[in-house]
This record gives sequence, structure tokens and C-alpha cells, in this order.
Amino acid sequence: MGSRKMSKGRENRRKERRIKRRKRLFTLIMELLILGGLVFGGYKYFFHRDRLEIAENIQLPDWIDVQYIDEGNPSRTGLRLDGINNIVIHYVGNPGTTAQQNRDFYNHEDSDVCSHFVVGIDGEIINCVPLYERSSASNHRNHDTISIEVCHPDESGKFTEASYDSLIKLTDWLLKEFGMKPEDVIRHYDVTGKECPIYYVKNPDAWEQFLADL
Ligand SMILES: [Zn+2]
Repeated sequence: MGSRKMSKGRENRRKERRIKRRKRLFTLIMELLILGGLVFGGYKYFFHRDRLEIAENIQLPDWIDVQYIDEGNPSRTGLRLDGINNIVIHYVGNPGTTAQQNRDFYNHEDSDVCSHFVVGIDGEIINCVPLYERSSASNHRNHDTISIEVCHPDESGKFTEASYDSLIKLTDWLLKEFGMKPEDVIRHYDVTGKECPIYYVKNPDAWEQFLADL
């Protein structure tokens, strides 16, 4: 009688331990799920990875001339963006050159720079890299930005009216497609302190006007 009682007590204790173990395991799994969700959600939130899905399925309008840099060219790394957080504006720094000349320069085997877009003096727009891939224009922000280089007729770096209008049109389109705001548009200068785009570094009011025109 006494031994049966003891073994029954032991069995109960074993049962309790089993239930406790299960509870602990369940709690651990729930904690891992929550932690995983937080990490994934945070990653998506901070890098705006949803915008990558948009970039993969985007339909480019016919006013954008698609001429991708050859795969394997040093300027086209083929690396995917981590997300899309900003649009970075540049000037080509080579007065009088056309969008085509700049695009062809990026495509040269000696070049290790390229932007997603080049806007020309006559307002033409060339797309050089798919929007889900990294460009090589904005230093440590290549991993989460879309880059636009703009041509200019002289050393001042001031854009022509045609370039300016096209830049507004292109940037507006990108903002709408990716659900971004004008404050998400920055200068190369805001990334590294480099004097690029020079006119809009030397004339901050003109930059503010550009943002207001978006
Ligand atoms: Zn730049």
C-alpha cells in the first residue's frame, strides 16, 4: 500500500515536470517567434524592404530610356539594395556632357561609378541600373538609396530648365511609386559632405526651392 502510494506520488511529480517542461518549451517557442517577428519587422521597417518588392515589379514610363550597364562591368555590382530609404541627387561634374555620354562612361570597363538615372541637358532621362540593384554613386549609402545624376552646361553646376523639369518629373514619379516624401530626397552633400550637386550646395535656397517644387 505504502509503496503504491509512493510510486503514485512519483508518477504525479513526473507528470508535473513533464507539464512544466512543455510549458517552458511553449514559452520559448513563443518568445522566439515574437523575437523573429520583431527583428524581421524592424528590418523591413528601417530599410523599407517593401519598396524593393515595388522596385522589382515597377513599370517604367515611356519617357525613361532604359539602357542598363552591362552585367559584369565594375560599376554594376549586381548587388541588391537592402531597401530604399532616400533618393540622392548628384551633378555629373563634367560640364556640357550629355546623358548618353555619361551613361556610356559608366558602361566603360574602367569605370566603377554609375547612377540609377542620368538626366540630360535637354531633359532626356536614361535609366542605367534596375531599381532593385545598388548603384555606385552615393558611397556608404549605395545600399539603400536611388541615385540620380544631372548634367549641366557649365562649371556653376546649375541645371538647365529642361533638366530641372525632367528631374522634378522623375523624382515626383519615384516618390509616388515608392510612397516617399520630398524630405526623403537628399543631396550627395548630405551623405558625405562632398560638394555635389555643387550649385545646390552653394545655393541652399535653390535646394529648398527644388524640394518645394516636388
Ligand atoms: Zn555626387
